[in-house]
Amino acid sequence: MAVIRDVMPSFQLLQPTSVDDAQKLLQQHGGDAWVLGGGLDSFDWLKDRIKRPKAVVDLSGIEELRGIRETSDGLEIGAMTTLTEVVRSPIVKQKYGLLSQAAELVASPQIRHQGTLGGNVSQDARCWYYRAGWPCYRAGGNICYADTPVGHNREHAILHAERCVAVNPSDTAPALVALDAKFVVRTPKGERIVDAEDYFVGPDIDITRMTILQPGSLLAAIRIPPTWAGAQFYFEKVRDRNVWDFPLLNVASAMFVSGGSIDRIRIAVNAAAARPLRLKAVEDSVRGKPANAATGEMAGKLSVEGAVPLTFNAYKIPLMRNLVKRAIGGVQEAAWAS
Ligand SMILES: Cc1cc2nc3c(=O)[nH]c(=O)nc-3n(C[C@H](O)[C@H](O)[C@H](O)COP(=O)(O)OP(=O)(O)OC[C@H]3O[C@@H](n4cnc5c(N)ncnc54)[C@H](O)[C@@H]3O)c2cc1C
Ligand code: SF4
Repeated sequence: MAVIRDVMPSFQLLQPTSVDDAQKLLQQHGGDAWVLGGGLDSFDWLKDRIKRPKAVVDLSGIEELRGIRETSDGLEIGAMTTLTEVVRSPIVKQKYGLLSQAAELVASPQIRHQGTLGGNVSQDARCWYYRAGWPCYRAGGNICYADTPVGHNREHAILHAERCVAVNPSDTAPALVALDAKFVVRTPKGERIVDAEDYFVGPDIDITRMTILQPGSLLAAIRIPPTWAGAQFYFEKVRDRNVWDFPLLNVASAMFVSGGSIDRIRIAVNAAAARPLRLKAVEDSVRGKPANAATGEMAGKLSVEGAVPLTFNAYKIPLMRNLVKRAIGGVQEAAWAS
């Protein structure tokens, strides 16, 4: 169980100033090392003594991991760039406004000032049992406390659950999936570039991780290709409070419409499963159809096929149906109760 203390436990704090040095340190310490971004997720784990790394590799002194650069092939955002910097970037706003919108809805101004884009997409599951140190599947045990008739599962998954029903709570992740972003991962074997949607893993692949990152690896940057620059974007997040709160569900879409019909589209949701879900079947079904409420209605229904509610989260099914409907049909009214 969690022991909540104000003070940090002791660990070796390592503060490299280059990615190469950070990698060497991560490899040297293997599974005993912890990568530190902005610390908003990390510090909870450490102070509560739920995760007990021997060494913490702080990336904040590595200049090459910061900043937003235009390249010949789009945009590159360093993993240690803060969410506020992403929100305020004129080029992100102008070309990839979907990401600005998503980043601006994360938590609160204080958290966005300190939290990094790399940390936001790499954050761990927000399940109260797991975070309180209960020995569940995700923590290496053999039970899920949330998936029981009286378990607290209002925020949990409706799709692709397997033993663990926790969700990925990132707001920027679905926007990056919709923008077809590429994640630059530094592994002990060299640099690896993966599609945004392949950066995340569900419990069917590895129940103890949210991303493909293994000990010794780090996320260096996120690249956004020009493919979706200037598209018609839609981002909507539903949460209990209008500030300082995780999504109950969110949706992100990028769409090119010509002559009233959907030409190209990418759409993703998060907080519905343990990883952001790209809705490929929805994309395929709406291509060539008018971008209107009827198409949105059809897409919304398709998006929730196979959804399985837990005791307290059945509301997520009509919610997701309606978020997808609005993302495609552009219907703005709050109609998720229908
Ligand atoms: C009260 C509260 C409310 C929040 N609300 C929201 C919300 O509404 N929406 C939302 O999306 N998020 C929310 N968050 C999450 C927050 O926005 C941060 O994005 C998140 O906590 C992690 O970012 P960080 O930079 O602080 O990273 P850290 O906490 O330092 O790291 C998070 C995880 O990622 C790993 N990591 C960090 N950077 C890297 C890297 N470059 N390479 C490899 N691994 C890395 C760390 O090891 C750690 O496991 C909230 C957090 C809090 C505390
Ligand atoms: S939902 Fe996942 S993280 Fe939460 S108790 Fe169940 S196994 Fe653990």
